[in-house]
Amino acid sequence: MPRTPSICHLIQWPEQSEASDTYSVIDPAHLKPVASVPDMDTPDVKQAISLAHTAQKHWARKTARERATVLHKWYQLCMHNQSDLAKIMTIECGKPLAESMGEVAYGSSFLRWFAEEASRAYGDVIPENAKGRRLLAIKQPVGVVAAITPWNFPNAMIARKVAPAIAAGCSIIVKPSAETPLSALAMAYLGEEAGLPPGVFNVVTASKGSAKRIGNEMTENALVRKITFTGSTAVGKLLSKQAASTMKKVSMELGGNAPFIVFDDADIDAAVTGCIASKFRNTGQTCVCANRVFVHSKIYDTFAAKLSAKIREMEVGHGLEPGNQFGPLITSDAFDKVVRHVEDAVGKGAKVLLGGKPHGLGGNFYEPTVLTGVTNEMLLAREETFGPVAGLIRFETESEVTKAANDTPFGLAAYFYTKDAGRIFRLSEALEYGIVGVNEGIVSTEVAPFGGIKESGLGREGSKYGMDDYMEIKYICIGGIKETLDA
Ligand code: NAP
Repeated sequence: MPRTPSICHLIQWPEQSEASDTYSVIDPAHLKPVASVPDMDTPDVKQAISLAHTAQKHWARKTARERATVLHKWYQLCMHNQSDLAKIMTIECGKPLAESMGEVAYGSSFLRWFAEEASRAYGDVIPENAKGRRLLAIKQPVGVVAAITPWNFPNAMIARKVAPAIAAGCSIIVKPSAETPLSALAMAYLGEEAGLPPGVFNVVTASKGSAKRIGNEMTENALVRKITFTGSTAVGKLLSKQAASTMKKVSMELGGNAPFIVFDDADIDAAVTGCIASKFRNTGQTCVCANRVFVHSKIYDTFAAKLSAKIREMEVGHGLEPGNQFGPLITSDAFDKVVRHVEDAVGKGAKVLLGGKPHGLGGNFYEPTVLTGVTNEMLLAREETFGPVAGLIRFETESEVTKAANDTPFGLAAYFYTKDAGRIFRLSEALEYGIVGVNEGIVSTEVAPFGGIKESGLGREGSKYGMDDYMEIKYICIGGIKETLDA
C-alpha cells in the first residue's frame, strides 16, 4: 500500500498565524513553536457532541464486520505512515524517535485488536426462570463518548479509547492535551482516509486553560453517555464528580507511584535493564514508570553501580537526532517538579550517584539521575516524579518491602525481580496494583487488560475486557411463550 501523501502537510513549519482563534504548539526540546492549531472552546465542543450524536446512530447500524473493515484499514494506514506519525510525536512531546516509532506501533495495535474484537461482542441466552419465558442479555454501544487524554503518549492513549469505542458502535470526541494536538489530528486524518464517516471520530484542540470548560461541557452534556479520561488523579476525581450530574459511565486511567523491587536472588543485570526500561522510558514520564526502586541490602551497592554505569552510556538530546535515548521534560513546570524532588531528597539525606542537576543543554533538559539512601518519607517516594530520577530505597525482608510498596493511595503498576517461584505467586497476589510485572520492566500490550486500582482509576483498556467499557448490557425478557408444540 502506498504511503498517504505526506500527512506532515497538516503541520506547517515553523510558525503559522497568531490569530486569536489558534494557539502555538511548542517543541519542548527547542522551546520553539512548530505549528498552530484551532483554539476551540465550549461552543465547538457542543457542536462536536451534536455531530457525534447524529453520526453514532448510523454507525451503530453498521454490521460489526463493516466497522472492523474500517478499523483494519486505519491500522494499515497508521503503520504505513509510522515514521511520519513518529516524527510528529517527537516534535510535539520530545520523546526519542525510536520510542515514538514504538508508540505508533503500540497505539495502532489497538486499532487491529478491536477490529477483531468487534465481531465478538457476544451476549448471552440465559436459562429461563419460569415457564413461558426466554431471557436474553445483549450488548449495545453506550452512544456518544467523550475522551480527554494526556501528552505523554499522544497516540496510544487516544487509540486505546477510540478503537474499542468505534468497534462497539459508539462515536467519540477527543480532547487531546494542549501540548500534543498534532498526533491526534494526524490520526483523525488517517481515520478519515480509512473510511470513518464524518462525526464518528472528532478532535477538539484547545490551548491550556480551556480544558476545564471543555471538561464541564463533556461531563454535563446529556448527549454524552460516557466519559473516558487518562491523566492525573486530581483531574480524574474532578471529572468523576462532574460526570455524576448526568450519571455517565466513567473510565479513569490515572496516576501511579510504581514500586520496582529487586530481591537478592534476582538476575541483577536483567533487573538493571528492566529498571532502565521502566523508569527512564519517555525520560521518566510514563504512568507506569517505576517511581520507587526498592533494592535488597545485600545487592544494593552492586545494583546502584551497574544501573549508574549503564545510564551514563546513554545520550541526552533532541529526540529527532539519532542515538539520543533521553529527551527533554515536557514543560518548565515538569522540570521544576524534578528539581524540587531531587532537592528535597538530597536535603533529607539522599546521595547523588549520577546526575542530580539540570543538563548542560539547558531548557527543559535534566540529567538522568540516580540517588541512593532514599527513604519512603521523601517527596520522590510519595508523589509521581515524572522525570529521569531513580531513587533507590534499601530493604531487608519480603514483608517489609510489600508493606512499603503498598503504602500509597495509588495502584497502577508494580514490578519485582526474583527467581523464587513461591515469592512470584505470593507477591503478585499481595501487591495492591492493577498490573504486576515479574522479571519484566515493560508489560503493556493490547492483548492484556491495562488499568489501575485505588486512586489510579477505574476500568480496563485493551484485551477482551476493553470493549465492555463502551457497551451497555440490555436484559430482554420475552414472556407468553406456549411451551407445547402446535399449541
Ligand atoms: P493532566 O494534567 O491531568 O491532563 C490530562 C488531560 O486533562 C489533558 O488533556 C488536560 O488538558 C486535561 N485537563 C486538565 N485539567 C482539566 C480539567 N480541569 N478538566 C478537564 N480536563 C482537564 O495530566 P498530564 O500532566 O497531561 O499527564 C500526566 C498524568 O497522566 C500523570 O499523572 C500520569 O500518571 C497520568 N497518565 C496515566 C495513564 C494511565 O493509563 N493510567 C497513562 C498516561 C498518563 P491540558 O493539556 O489542556 O491541560
